[in-house]
Amino acid sequence: MGVNTIMNNILTVTQLTKKFGHITAVDTLSFSIKKGNVYGILGPNGSGKSTTLGMILNVVNPTSGGFSWFDGTHNTHQALKRVGAIIERPNFYPYMTAAQNLRLVSRIKEVPKSKIDEKLALVDLLARKNDKFKTFSLGMKQRLAIASALLNDPEILILDEPTNGLDPQGIAKVRNIIKKIAAQGTTILLASHLLDEVEKVCSHVLVLQKGKQIYFGKVTALTTDHGYFELNATNVDALQKALSSITAIEHIEVDGDYILAYPNTPLDIAELSKSLADNGIVLTHLAQKYKSLEDQFLTLTQNQQA
Ligand code: ADP
Ligand code: MG
Repeated sequence: MGVNTIMNNILTVTQLTKKFGHITAVDTLSFSIKKGNVYGILGPNGSGKSTTLGMILNVVNPTSGGFSWFDGTHNTHQALKRVGAIIERPNFYPYMTAAQNLRLVSRIKEVPKSKIDEKLALVDLLARKNDKFKTFSLGMKQRLAIASALLNDPEILILDEPTNGLDPQGIAKVRNIIKKIAAQGTTILLASHLLDEVEKVCSHVLVLQKGKQIYFGKVTALTTDHGYFELNATNVDALQKALSSITAIEHIEVDGDYILAYPNTPLDIAELSKSLADNGIVLTHLAQKYKSLEDQFLTLTQNQQA
């Protein structure tokens, strides 16, 4: 196993489980985080996102299962020195300036003071470095917390609901900063209940529902669908029969006046129209539709409830 293989695996989670009394907050999660990607943990409130982050950061004890940082090359205490995390509301000394607060952190983390301006610039707070923390908006406080977490150039930045409570401008700003940090090569893991946040910021996503992992993979694989077709014909029975004979059509549904046909591979509307015509079908309606990401997410979560 070469050095590259070792360096590529930031975190491996195996069957990680947390029970609080009779509640299983996190239920046998298994996933791995590789260098350079942006991972989202997506799920509604109470789905186990914060508990998962708490366990991998050693502030919540797992009930069973485990995790390993950097392929187990370091013990958890050593490994966490290479992790930057913000899992609580940003908390700094209110009467000290942004720069003074970061100077304190730099002393604790034993990093050179030169990092302070670099990180303040990264989160767009350099011009405000001499302003007191208490004068900052929530968005600025959150950005200062990000700068603080980045002072020691961690390999991974972990954020729990980084845009909660921010106004739309503040949200956009934090998301852009996260993207900038990722573009510089820092791996990111963020928890969010917002589908559009994960879609905008993340390359990979772990979808949680009631503590269970219902999807783990690329965001694009979740969001890419082949759409579906809405059809009607002079002879609906013949239309249904013809559709079920087309191998690219996975399933057919009746929705009011229309027949809905779902392909399992990309299917061209002209191609579909032609093959139906070849089967003697006279279409009175044919339209290609796409589900929104939100609909797909709902489908995914509903399938799991069944
Ligand atoms: P999320 O971050 O996705 O909103 P959490 O991880 O905070 O979800 O919570 C998952 C579940 O675990 C919820 O049912 C929550 O009430 C429960 N939970 C979290 N922390 C505790 C705790 N310290 N004691 C008891 N139950 C908890
Ligand atoms: Mg939470």
